[in-house]
Amino acid sequence: MAESTHFYELFQPTHYNVYLDINRATKLISGTSTITGDAKQASIAIHQKFMTISAVKADGKDVPFTFDDQSEGIHIDLGKTGETTVAIDFTAPLTDSMMGIYPSYYELNGEKKELIGTQFETTAARQAFPCVDEPEAKATFDLAIKFDEHEGETVISNMPEVKVVDGVHYFDTTVRMSSYLIAFAFGEMQSKLTTTKSGVKVGVFSTKAHQPKELDFALDIAKRSIEFYEDFYQTPYPLPHSWQLALPDFSAGAMENWGLVTYREAYLVLDPDNTSFETKQRVATVIAHELAHQWFGDLVTMKWWDDLWLNESFANMMEYVAIDAIEPDWHIWEVFQTSEAPMALQRDATDGVQSVHVQVEDPAEIDALFDGAIVYAKGARMLVMVRALIGDDALRAGLKNYFATHHYGNATGADLWAALGAASGMNVGAIMNSWLEQPGYPVVSAAVVDGKLTISQQQFFVGEGKDAGRQWQVPLNGNYDAVPEILADKSMTLGDYAELRQASGQPFRLNVGNNSHFIVKYDDTLLQDILANLDTLDAIAQLQLLQDLRLLAEGRQISYAAIVPLLSRFADSRSTVVNDVLYGVAGNLRKFVTPDSAEEKALRRLFDRLSAKQVARLGWTPRAGESNDDQLTRPFVLNAALYAKNPESIAAAHKLFVANQDNLAGLPAAVRVFILANEVENFSDAEVFDQLLNDYRKSSDASYKADLAAALPTTSDATLIAKLIGVFEDADTVKPQDLRAWYRGVLNNSDGEQAAWDWIRNDWQWLENTVGGDMEFTTYITVTTGVFHTPERLAEFKAFFEPKLNTPGLTREITMDTKVIETRVALIEDEKTAVNEAVAEATK
Ligand SMILES: [Zn+2]
Repeated sequence: MAESTHFYELFQPTHYNVYLDINRATKLISGTSTITGDAKQASIAIHQKFMTISAVKADGKDVPFTFDDQSEGIHIDLGKTGETTVAIDFTAPLTDSMMGIYPSYYELNGEKKELIGTQFETTAARQAFPCVDEPEAKATFDLAIKFDEHEGETVISNMPEVKVVDGVHYFDTTVRMSSYLIAFAFGEMQSKLTTTKSGVKVGVFSTKAHQPKELDFALDIAKRSIEFYEDFYQTPYPLPHSWQLALPDFSAGAMENWGLVTYREAYLVLDPDNTSFETKQRVATVIAHELAHQWFGDLVTMKWWDDLWLNESFANMMEYVAIDAIEPDWHIWEVFQTSEAPMALQRDATDGVQSVHVQVEDPAEIDALFDGAIVYAKGARMLVMVRALIGDDALRAGLKNYFATHHYGNATGADLWAALGAASGMNVGAIMNSWLEQPGYPVVSAAVVDGKLTISQQQFFVGEGKDAGRQWQVPLNGNYDAVPEILADKSMTLGDYAELRQASGQPFRLNVGNNSHFIVKYDDTLLQDILANLDTLDAIAQLQLLQDLRLLAEGRQISYAAIVPLLSRFADSRSTVVNDVLYGVAGNLRKFVTPDSAEEKALRRLFDRLSAKQVARLGWTPRAGESNDDQLTRPFVLNAALYAKNPESIAAAHKLFVANQDNLAGLPAAVRVFILANEVENFSDAEVFDQLLNDYRKSSDASYKADLAAALPTTSDATLIAKLIGVFEDADTVKPQDLRAWYRGVLNNSDGEQAAWDWIRNDWQWLENTVGGDMEFTTYITVTTGVFHTPERLAEFKAFFEPKLNTPGLTREITMDTKVIETRVALIEDEKTAVNEAVAEATK
C-alpha cells in the first residue's frame, strides 16, 4: 500500500446495498456489495480481506480489477471519475476468529448450538463485505441477509427489519455511519424489551442457555443510561432502538455497534439473586460505557484511528458520570480511583509508553493502540481533569454544541477542545495538549527549602527513563490558598511555610481528590505532618498517600521498606478504597519473598495481623443490609486471611464448601471464589478437582465460571496442573476468549509457573493462530510480565520475545515489558533484605 493513502481519498461512498448469504453448514459467506460514491481518481481501491472477488461492475459494466490480502484492497480501474456505483461479487470464509462475521458456540440441554455475530472494529468489516473500511468513510447502508435458517431463529441488526422476502431479511436504511459500527446477529435468542421516556426501544438479547431473569439487570441499566445521556448531552438518541446482545464468544469486553451493542456474556447477563455487588458495578459501567459511545463515537466519530482516544477516553469517563447519576449510593467514582487511576499511573511511568494521541497507519498497529491503561484509563483521567477545570455546565454546553456541529460526521481532538473552550472560556486545548501528545506524567516534589514552600515538576519513571525535559500544565488542586490553579513552569515558590501552615491549619497537600494525573513527593517535613494527621484524611486521600508512596518506591525515590510499618495504620479502615490500596501494596510485598521461605512465613503473619480483626468483624458470609463498603471490603480481607493460612478462616471456608457441595454455584457470589480456592489449595483431591472442572464445562453462569477459573489454577498438585494445561487448547472446555485468565492463574501459582511458561513458549504459534488477529493478543505478554520477577525468568523472557520484536503490533509491548521485568528484578535484588527485615519487625 502506498504510504498512508487512505482509500477514502480515492473513493468516497455515500450509500451501500449489501447482500449477504451466510451458510453455517458450509462455512461460506457469499454476497454482493453495491457501493455508490464519488470517485476522486479513475483508479480506486475498496477494502477486502481473506475474500475471493469474482466480478466488479461499475455502473453496470464489467471493469478490470485485482485484489490481494497484502494491501487488503480490491484495486479497480473505473476509467472515469465522479459519481459511480460499484457492484462487487465476493465469497469469504466463515471462521472462528472472533473477528468479522463469526460463530459463537454454546450448549443447550446437551445440544451444541451456534449464534452468528459480528465484530468489525477496528478493521474487520472488510472481512464481511467489501467497503471503504475507514472511520471517515461514512455512508448509509441497506443490509439484506439470508442464512440457512430454521424454525425459531431471529436476526437483528443496527436498524429494524422491514421485510422478509424469499428468506431474505431486509433492514431499514441506516443513518450515515462508519463501517466498523455495522453489526448483525442471528440464531435462537431470547429477549426482554422496554421503552425509554422518549420512546426509544431498548432490548437485551441472549441465548436461551440463560434464565430469563438474567436479562433484567442489564435492561434496567441500559434504559436508565440512555435516558441519562439524552438529558446530559441534550441530544436525542439517534436511532429507533438500542439492542444489547450477549455473545458466548467475544474477544473484547463489549462493542458499541450503533443500535446493536455486543457484549461478553459476563458483562451483560447476571443472576439478580446471586451476583456480587462488585460484578453488578462492573456490568453497569460496561453498559454505560457502550451507550455513551452511541453519541460519542457513533454519532460523531474520530476522523482517523490516531484519535481513538477521543472515543475511548470519553466513554471511559462517561461510564462513571452516568452510573454516578443513576446510582448515586454506589459511589462509583471510588472504582475509578481504585482501578483506572493506578492502572494509568503504573503503565504511564515506564519509558517507551505510547502517548494518548498516537500517529498510526498499519492495521496491526491500530489494534495495538487499544492500550487499556493509556487510551482508556489515562485518557479518562485527562478528561476528568478537564471536567474538574471547566465544570459540568460548561461540559454539557460544549458537548451539545459538539454533537450539533459534527453529528453524522467526524471530528478530531482539536474539535472537542474548541467546543469545550468556547463553552468555558478557557484555553482547554493548550492545557490538554501537554497531556495528550506527551507520554508519561510528572512527579511534583513539594519541599520546604530555606523556610519556603516550593514545588517542582519532573517526569516520573519506574525503571530507566530518558529525561526528555518534558513539562506539563499541571492542575494542582492544592489545599492552601497560595497554590495556583496550574503549574506550567518547572518550579515555583509558594511562600513562607510556617506562615502558610499556620494560616491553613492543616497539612499541605496537592492533587486533593486525586483527579489530576500526577503523583506527589513530599519532603520529610511535609510527609510527617500528613502522617501525624492521617485520621483527618478522607479515604481518597489515604489511598493516594499509599499509592504515591508505592510508586515512588518502585521509582527508587524512596525505600520500599519505609512503607511496610505504615500498613497497619490503615488495617482497620471501613473504606473499600483504603482496603483496596492497602492489600494492593501488601500484595506487592509477595515478590520480595521466596515461596515457602522463612521470609514468606513472616509475610503471611503480616497479612494475618492486617486482616484478622476485619475477618472477625465481617465474617465469611454476606449479611442482609450491610453497607456497600462492607460488601466490597470482605473479599480483600478473606483473600488476605487465606494467604495468611489463618486456621479459622481455612476451616470456615471448608465448612461452607462441604455444606454446599451439591450446589456450589449457589454459594454467595461475593465470597464463592475464596471458598473454592481454599478447597482446591488446602483440601482438594482429584475427585473434587474434576467436579469443579466439570462444573466449569457445563455452567452458563459467567460469574461462577470466572470463580472456577480463578480457583482451579491454585492447586499445587503437578498432575492437576498438567490436566489444566491440557484443556487450554480444548475450546469445548476453555473458550479462547477466557484462556488468558486461565493462563495467568496457573502462571501466578509458583507450583504452576514453569508449566504455564513452557506451554506458552511451545504453543505460541497456536496462540497466534487462535487469538493473534485481535487486540487482546499482546496482553498475553503483559500478563506474563506481571508475574515474572527473577533474573532467570528475565533471561528466558528476553530469549523468547526478543526475536519477535519486529512483529507488527508487538514491538512496543515487548520493549516495555522487558524493561518492566528488568526494573522489578533490580528492585527486588536491591531492597529485599530491607523489606523482609521491615516485615519481620512489623510482625514482632
Ligand atoms: Zn469503548
